[in-house]
Amino acid sequence: MYITLAVNNASRYAQVMKRTINFIILLGSALIFVSCTKPMPAQTEYVLGTLCTINLFDKGSSELYRTLFTRLREIENHMSVNKEGTELDRINTAAGRESVHVTADVVEVLAAALRYAELSDGAFDPTVGPLVKLWGIGSDNARVPKEHEIVHVLPLINWKDVVLDVQAKTVFLKRPGMALDLGAIAKGYAADEMARILKSNKVERAIIDLGGNVLAYGEKQGGKAWRIGIQDPTGERGAYVGILEIKNKTMVTSGVYERFLLQDGIRYHHILSTQTGYPVQNGLLSVTIIGDHSIDADGLSTTVFALGYEKGRALLESLGNVEGIFIFEDGSLRATSGARSSFSLTSDNYRWAD
Ligand code: ADP
Ligand code: MG
Repeated sequence: MYITLAVNNASRYAQVMKRTINFIILLGSALIFVSCTKPMPAQTEYVLGTLCTINLFDKGSSELYRTLFTRLREIENHMSVNKEGTELDRINTAAGRESVHVTADVVEVLAAALRYAELSDGAFDPTVGPLVKLWGIGSDNARVPKEHEIVHVLPLINWKDVVLDVQAKTVFLKRPGMALDLGAIAKGYAADEMARILKSNKVERAIIDLGGNVLAYGEKQGGKAWRIGIQDPTGERGAYVGILEIKNKTMVTSGVYERFLLQDGIRYHHILSTQTGYPVQNGLLSVTIIGDHSIDADGLSTTVFALGYEKGRALLESLGNVEGIFIFEDGSLRATSGARSSFSLTSDNYRWAD
């Protein structure tokens, strides 16, 4: 039996940082000869459990980059479940005992998460924490749990047992052992926060990429759309299925490739069924959501993935103002009409289903 952790965050971080630093040095030396007033190049840091890159195309000062990354760290310090003393950690530790006072950040993200839990009848559930911990996918403790362990934690997963008091800003988990995990939606909120800061600083164009959670802020110079690749779920990182053209929109993908565990030749990915306790298996490889707010696109990418194509698409169409692209295991692609018209399929490995 062998276990390979596909995403070794530390080594990937080191690798990408090395590349980024080389790139910045190269770019830096080139820029010195151009002009001292040019905006700074893109900045990348490891925050929110992933590599976050912000590219301010105008007004890119070191001060503004610092403000943005400081805010990302603040959100991480509220919402991480892997650090002691965060608000989420305090809520989870107090489960079954007492309510915990939290910041507006956690209130807003939890309220949105509970909304997606309701809309999906619990397929998306922010109380999935004990199950996420058991699998440990994306951490050094990743493993396939024993059946009896899964049976033990499944009853702890129920979003209806979360008491959120929006006015008083308190959260209470009704039963001991319950635990929140906002990993499926927190990056979307963080991207929206980045956009809010850019707006108040009168930035006109920027790309915010929080580990594949992309917010295309403004439009490209000359009024053109940004061209953003959608990851090939079975290809190398950076290999695209096609290109999406968007302006002032966000695009978030949930897929089987982002974090997974290989054991005995079987791949286990990180979106878990709240019914079975195992990774969701429904023929989908990835779901990309395009919308106006990243918190919604992020929440929905996981929700729609967990619901599966039929129910997921029906949910998107009932909501309006959100579009989706679905990639299936058999190499076929489907999309809502708005997404299809702004997406060009470029990979020979995929085809439209209709
Ligand atoms: P990523 O974090 O890679 O961008 P997602 O937004 O799809 O991908 O979030 C996946 C994360 O959501 C998992 O790592 C886990 O923390 C959490 N999660 C897993 N299954 C569920 C579920 N059914 N409902 C809510 N959150 C989930
Ligand atoms: Mg998500």
